[in-house]
Amino acid sequence: MSLRAARFLIVLALPLLALTPDEEKLTSLISADSMRGHVSFLASDLLEGRDTPSPGLEIAAEYIAAQYRRFGLQPLAGGTYFQLAPYSVMRQSMEGFRLVIEGGEQPLSIEPARAMMLSMTPGSFEAAGCVKVSLRQEDAELPAREMVEGKVVLLDAALFRTRAMAAKRDALLNLGAKLVIAPGFVMPGPRLTPGDGAPQDRSPMLITSDPAFRELIAPLADGPVSLRVSARLPEPERETVQLKNVIGVLPGSDPELSKTYVLISAHYDHVGVNPRVQGEDKIHNGANDDASGTAVMLELARAYALSGQRPKRTLVFAAWFGEEKGLLGARFYAQNPVFSLKNTVANLNFEHMGRTDDVEGAQIGRLTASGFDYTTLGDLLIEAGQATDVVAWKHERNSDAFFPRSDNQAFADQGVPAITLAVAWIFPDYHRPGDHWDLLDYDNMARVTRTCAVVVNRVAESEDIPKWVPRGDRNERYIEAWKKLTGGEGR
Ligand SMILES: [Zn+2]
Repeated sequence: MSLRAARFLIVLALPLLALTPDEEKLTSLISADSMRGHVSFLASDLLEGRDTPSPGLEIAAEYIAAQYRRFGLQPLAGGTYFQLAPYSVMRQSMEGFRLVIEGGEQPLSIEPARAMMLSMTPGSFEAAGCVKVSLRQEDAELPAREMVEGKVVLLDAALFRTRAMAAKRDALLNLGAKLVIAPGFVMPGPRLTPGDGAPQDRSPMLITSDPAFRELIAPLADGPVSLRVSARLPEPERETVQLKNVIGVLPGSDPELSKTYVLISAHYDHVGVNPRVQGEDKIHNGANDDASGTAVMLELARAYALSGQRPKRTLVFAAWFGEEKGLLGARFYAQNPVFSLKNTVANLNFEHMGRTDDVEGAQIGRLTASGFDYTTLGDLLIEAGQATDVVAWKHERNSDAFFPRSDNQAFADQGVPAITLAVAWIFPDYHRPGDHWDLLDYDNMARVTRTCAVVVNRVAESEDIPKWVPRGDRNERYIEAWKKLTGGEGR
């Protein structure tokens, strides 16, 4: 390319790269100190790691609502910033718990510490017959009711990873099995389930982390097997709680486009206190995960409030509960949307925005996203980065791998173009008690938040809507969901 041609290109490119006067003003209001304030409070020991549910999470919700009030965001119907989600907390007493599988080389007795009940239909039985069922593969079919009814099902996987898997698991639990046992990760502490927690007319399910169980069932073919299970599953205690998504609204200024929404979100919960951690500090403060994303969301709201700007589309600011328990708050909203998902043009979710010490190297002036090339938002991110001196980049592996690992997944499942923006993927204190507020780089956080402000503003101001970009089986199902959501042809 000749120099002359290059000059011509630069001149052409400039207007694209430059910020509009509104964007100049908006980004100039983003403050590192403001975000330091939010993170240092949300990640303080007082809030005890913001477990879902916990008093610390309640304090965080009130804090976020207070910020919305301060910024003049509109509340929801009834004048509240809280979208209430009824859940029940069940504490499984493991006293008297017993689970023995006989018929292998030697009896396998599952220890209470390696067992977790997912649904709570207590009871006991002796020497029940077993059926092996494999549902892990996407195309695996449910067994016939006659095969599993009254039997103990030995399932090949816990089926949590995707909605399709979860739907299959739920269908299996309705086939009259006496008990379903699956290998998986056992989390200590109380279990959360939606609704009032009344016992349901479905099979109880037990997850075990005992590797011997996985080894025992791995070689078995599907169908009746010559194992016998005896169990005693004690009665759980139940308590109802109201969990809270914290939602505030900046109404759009355009008569038509204001009926469409840009959903700006982060999760405000973390994993709480882990008494089993070695050493003095047992509080998982969750500063970077995800007080940092919450602070970015709040800072965007603050910048708009101070600027007095109202973009054409309506901005919906949301802090979710229960991300660490399986995207609970985001999924609750996706099932019970306050603002129509059909008219929600994008979800920009924020995680890990403060730490720059990614285990793969320092991430100064760099911003990445999950599902980076799944939607047109990736290109927008690159452009906004160029205009704000930030490199937006796709991680060859993590950008795809992290897509299902945050709240954006709940919206992508419904078809909404949804990504999670982040500075670091994995950092040294990830999900450890050392995720403290003073380890974040707030100047860098302000820098990348300016990029985020430009992205939000361009989505909110543009007549064009973000779209899924076909990437084969990497995002096919979201495109299908989008077609369903928008009635075939899109909006
Ligand atoms: Zn997180």
